[in-house]
Amino acid sequence: MSELIVHELVKTYPGGTQRATDEVSLHVADGEFLVLLGPSGCGKTTLLRMVAGLETPDSGQVVIGGKDVTYLEPRRRNLSMVFQSYAVFPNKKVYDNIGFGLKVRGVPADEIRRKVEWAADLLQLTPYLDRYPAKLSGGQRQRVAVARAIVVDSDLLLMDEPLSNLDALLRLSFRAELKKLVSELGITTLYVTHDQVEALSLGDRVAVMREGRVVQAGSPTEVYAQPADTFVGGFLGSPPMNFLRGTVNGTHVDFGGQSLPLPPALTSFSGKEILLGIRPEAITVDTGETGLHAVVEVFEPLGSSTLLTTEVAGQVLKVQAPADFRAEPGERLALRLPPERCRWYDPETQLLLE
Ligand code: ATP
Repeated sequence: MSELIVHELVKTYPGGTQRATDEVSLHVADGEFLVLLGPSGCGKTTLLRMVAGLETPDSGQVVIGGKDVTYLEPRRRNLSMVFQSYAVFPNKKVYDNIGFGLKVRGVPADEIRRKVEWAADLLQLTPYLDRYPAKLSGGQRQRVAVARAIVVDSDLLLMDEPLSNLDALLRLSFRAELKKLVSELGITTLYVTHDQVEALSLGDRVAVMREGRVVQAGSPTEVYAQPADTFVGGFLGSPPMNFLRGTVNGTHVDFGGQSLPLPPALTSFSGKEILLGIRPEAITVDTGETGLHAVVEVFEPLGSSTLLTTEVAGQVLKVQAPADFRAEPGERLALRLPPERCRWYDPETQLLLE
């Protein structure tokens, strides 16, 4: 078993006024790929570094495979790491770079050869084993770093933005390869990124962090479709989730004279304000029973879809329409907002109600 448990880790850097991580807790099951996602400065790297042993927490615990490793030095934690900057040794050939971890562990040469060849084959590095990193592209260098991390039989693989230095196209293809590779290996993985697409694409589960805490952890579908608060709804999705402020009136919510039905469980909010959260692609341009009228402000053809910026009751509502949809600014549209795609939030706490 190589599950990872992070229990209430607190870290304040010297001179720091705020906690970089604030009693953060996390569970990564044996063989699971968990992505830590959040904006810059939310504490992702700090958390990863405490798991790696590169940073000492003020309090809390890190448990790997049932063993408390909180104060154990990094090399005794049996984990491998891949960083954003292609951390390869420039003076060693690809072969020796990949085999480095095995060599320092005293693995016999023939076994090193077997494992290096296996990893090189998986990562399409076989033709480059005799080259120095300077003669490789950025993508190839990052493959070397990944190969080096997977040849050692570690309990845990840690990755900190490994794709962020690659150009857009390479990033896309390497992302898919990485997903295939890690799932085949079945190694417990903690992966840090601020890129929501990467997080949704790679993670068995995604843990969204904000200000040193995990605000929601769940499957990519869960965090995307049921954001636990307006921050998660706004951080995931491009464009992000829409939030419209309305007033509860019995069984309905009023948006400047227009209304939508409210789930029965929320009718106790009558007379109060409420926030409707709905994804731009959940809205269709269509007259229906549950809809709102909106005025088109901006029309943007995006190739695979059309993005409409509309106005409803003095508020902005983004709508993702099909690619062939056409509309003029100033045009009034009937929009359908399916009740099953509507989420309701408390405007004070910003938390999901239903
Ligand atoms: P990024 O995506 O930009 O790397 P992050 O989510 O990984 O951000 P951290 O790097 O963990 O965030 O930083 C969390 C907080 O701790 C930030 O406020 C940051 O300024 C602070 N911090 C990080 N490293 C140090 C350090 N070595 N000394 C002082 N403060 C630090």
